[in-house]
Amino acid sequence: MHPTDLIAASKTLEVDALAKKLISEGKDVVNLTAGEPDFPTPRPIVEKAIEALEKGYTKYTDSNGIPQLREAISRYLKNKKNVEFSPDEIVVSNGGKQSLFNAFASILDSGDEVILFAPLWVSYPAQIILSRGKPVVVKTKFENGFMPMKDELLSAVTENTRAIVVNSPNNPSGGIYDYETLKMIAQVANERGIFVITDEVYDDLVYEGMHKSMYGLVKEELLIYVNAFSKSHSMTGWRVGYVATKNKDVKKRISKIQSHVASNINTIAQYAAIAACETDNAYMVEEFKKRRAFVVSKAREYGIEFLEPKGAFYLFFKVNGDDEEFCKRLLAEKLVASVPGSAFEMPGFVRISFANSLEVLEKGTNRIREFMASFK
Ligand code: GLU
Repeated sequence: MHPTDLIAASKTLEVDALAKKLISEGKDVVNLTAGEPDFPTPRPIVEKAIEALEKGYTKYTDSNGIPQLREAISRYLKNKKNVEFSPDEIVVSNGGKQSLFNAFASILDSGDEVILFAPLWVSYPAQIILSRGKPVVVKTKFENGFMPMKDELLSAVTENTRAIVVNSPNNPSGGIYDYETLKMIAQVANERGIFVITDEVYDDLVYEGMHKSMYGLVKEELLIYVNAFSKSHSMTGWRVGYVATKNKDVKKRISKIQSHVASNINTIAQYAAIAACETDNAYMVEEFKKRRAFVVSKAREYGIEFLEPKGAFYLFFKVNGDDEEFCKRLLAEKLVASVPGSAFEMPGFVRISFANSLEVLEKGTNRIREFMASFK
């Protein structure tokens, strides 16, 4: 069977597209599906794009990304995140999504296993399968704040384990792995020579505690670091992500894949992203904090069981009964679009995004409350 026959299209994008279609038809749908900040892209970033257009920067570039952008990312990572990669260790790609795909494709051979911790982002298993690898899902527990335990991880490791994916802050749970957990994962990987692909796209969006990177914990040659501007700078549609590694062989493979699959990413977006490296996003984080407080207070008021999100912009809550049915009926009966936990390999839960204005959240949560009374 061909790998594509084993996967479904992205559920998050599918439900988002459905919600957007209903809205375009004039339906009063509250769309709490895709994790997409509602802020306009900051003006300095837009201006840099306009300038690039006017200067005629509309041709192919180095497929790794223009040197100025890789230099800017390198500086930004060092200054803002204490993460050090030289421009030569970075490949710019079409969003974090393509960076992750490049990473999987560069290290996986037929039958190689990749350990994922559920709840997990919907595209990891699909990308692994497309790279002819095998996703091995470790189900974490709600009672443990969805953090993986050492025995759970060890029981999933085999001689075919090629990589472990870490995603903290986590989509969909909003959880942040504590330092001990990150160290535990790094230790297992380091001892056994397993790659760690760390997806840190939500690292700026932290409301409680501090983000800790896997950088510095995992041996240099085993670490593949992924980040993007989509969530942090409200640039979802620009598609600018990047993957960085000090493993020269892996980097070479990623560069080859990028050059054959996409050449460079959109040239104008690359110039714009240089400005993103210098654009403060603290005001967005402040706003997300208020929205988080709002949805958390509503969830408490309604007696919903949920994990208090420490990062990202999702509320992941328990439902009585089938999550797919819950989401379908919530949309049909109350015009609120959400994502079933099954999409994240955690049935029995539902994800809503709070990257929406307080007015939208107010309307959405009110409707959810009304709906929950009838969903038993
Ligand atoms: N990453 C976002 C989400 O989980 C955007 C949609 C997607 O690419 O999956 O909603």
